[in-house]
Amino acid sequence: MDEFKLIQRYFSDPGTAGHGAKQAAVLGIGDDCALLSHSSKTHLAVSVDTLVESVHFPQGAPADLLAQRALCVSISDLAAMGAKPLYFTLALTLPESNEAWLAVFSRGLAAVAKRFDCSLVGGDTTRGPLAMSLQVFGECPQGGALLRSGAAVGDSIYVSGPLGDSAAALALMQGRLGLPEAGHDLRQYLEGRYYCPEPQLALGMALRGVASAAIDISDGLMADLGHICKASGVSAQLHGEALPTTAALHNYADKKTILSWALSGGDDYQLCFTVPQHKKNLLDERVQALSTSVHCVGEMVPLQDAPVQLLGAEQPALEGYKHFE
Ligand code: ADP
Ligand code: MG
Repeated sequence: MDEFKLIQRYFSDPGTAGHGAKQAAVLGIGDDCALLSHSSKTHLAVSVDTLVESVHFPQGAPADLLAQRALCVSISDLAAMGAKPLYFTLALTLPESNEAWLAVFSRGLAAVAKRFDCSLVGGDTTRGPLAMSLQVFGECPQGGALLRSGAAVGDSIYVSGPLGDSAAALALMQGRLGLPEAGHDLRQYLEGRYYCPEPQLALGMALRGVASAAIDISDGLMADLGHICKASGVSAQLHGEALPTTAALHNYADKKTILSWALSGGDDYQLCFTVPQHKKNLLDERVQALSTSVHCVGEMVPLQDAPVQLLGAEQPALEGYKHFE
């Protein structure tokens, strides 16, 4: 049973999901964040993510980079909802109380917390194999959140930036991608993308009222776009040549490998979102105002057998990372 079937079977029952709640959640299980009643004008967006040593990061990873990555990854779920960060809690499991490690970890954490104006308001500290769970709280105007469920046939599919960088970084760290001395800049760039994935917060907020659906790409484009398809009851067609990848990678890895990283490599934390045709001009305006760019990679089509179909490239047999398969 993969993790999604597991959640569906054991945790999505209304008897559990709604039990004891004073009032029903505005949005419960199934999106990047839950939405809860907050103020008369806003909803609270809540999400928790766990990183476990040797599963989500290699053993001996630098503590400051780890902290940065953990908070960026959690905040990325707020970006996917178009929410603005407010607070977070940290549940930290440590094999030992190593002060040198903790000093570096807390410095990394503080840098990201400050940068995104997101304050640590609680947590838990326990002994055990190195792992951390960060729960983030953000806010968005009522009715303004970006959901996975609003995509419709004819909408264009976009991604916010290059795909496959984190998979390439992991291949580099695991010795599956070799870079000569001349590839030093690329190495630095890839490691930066892996340890400091940039949560697309400004874009997420700018997409309120523009995007019909959105998700952050944590498990690979195929898998995460598949979640939009499932939640929206439509299918997707992707154009292989339109997928943005980092140009310098093409000097060191073949096209097919890079395509498979782009489609099924996790940990990129770019946004994938859909936009109705009549809102494309508005999208252009919002994107220009942010001095950023987005990439159109396909369109939503009527429901088919495969949730996501790849056009114009050899279909690689790939899926996003699943914990229990
Ligand atoms: P993301 O990749 O955006 O963090 P996930 O794929 O981890 O989201 O989770 C999918 C959905 O299932 C989310 O809405 C999440 O809150 C919910 N979920 C995951 N695990 C559990 C669990 N153990 N109990 C209840 N809900 C869960
Ligand atoms: Mg997510």
